[in-house]
Amino acid sequence: MPPIDPTSQATRDAVHARLRFYRDLGIGEFYRREVDPVLWAQPQPPAPEIQSQSPAPAASPVPPAALFSQSAEETEIPPRKPFPAAPPQSEPVPPEQHFAALKLIRDEIGDCTRCALAKGRNKLVFGDGDPNAKLMFVGEGPGADEDASGLPFVGRGGQLLNNMIAAMGLKREQVYIANVVKCRPPNNRTPEPDEAHTCSPFLFRQIDVIRPQIIVALGQTAVTYLTGEKRALSAWRGVTHPFRGGAKLIVTYHPAFLLRDPNQKKHAWADLQIAMRELGLTPPARK
Ligand code: URA
Repeated sequence: MPPIDPTSQATRDAVHARLRFYRDLGIGEFYRREVDPVLWAQPQPPAPEIQSQSPAPAASPVPPAALFSQSAEETEIPPRKPFPAAPPQSEPVPPEQHFAALKLIRDEIGDCTRCALAKGRNKLVFGDGDPNAKLMFVGEGPGADEDASGLPFVGRGGQLLNNMIAAMGLKREQVYIANVVKCRPPNNRTPEPDEAHTCSPFLFRQIDVIRPQIIVALGQTAVTYLTGEKRALSAWRGVTHPFRGGAKLIVTYHPAFLLRDPNQKKHAWADLQIAMRELGLTPPARK
């Protein structure tokens, strides 16, 4: 096997795909540990032969002891930082003022540089849809298409989300869609906690204005930062959870996960049917 180059894009992509896979399964608690540079040492050319009576030991590019030695520092796994509390719920806004109240939040965000994601963004993706929606979807953060257009869920995942909304008998314009972070993370990586915690207060304010009856969290990142609790997706799905302002939270898979594993669509549909029951919706007749 050729040696692994930790700096190559292929390695990064493979690690990224693996982490996403774990995250989709609801496993998200990872920590980074500095790697001993000797582990990544390229194999050395064989040492010149030394004339000797006794056989030389086989050359090893990495001394075995170095592979397993750990400094005291490395064995320490930093404790998980506690989640900051969600901001207190703001006063209800009369329905006819929802649009203007959302605009005020957008204006306050401005040309945001509050976190590192600002550097790589083209367009900030605030949110889209009916300011008086009864149903709100919350995703993770913009991807490339959203970053280019300034609208949430317009790429392949967005097409699938549109189909999910249509299957519920609704139009996209009747729901509201927003994300935990409003700027695209580089290479679509999961937002870092400090990025999500910097941005999510604006999401909570959007929720407080819209006051949807049902919020559907799309995937692990959304439910984690909406609730401040890290649990496997399976522990959230299948029931409604009381949420701020009397809303009910329903958790389902992220559309990007469903694109990777279409077998899970039936489970996502079961989750959406919970939302439909709560909203008193019946699916449209099949054509
Ligand atoms: N994925 C998300 O979580 N949100 C988007 O807006 C697009 C893709």
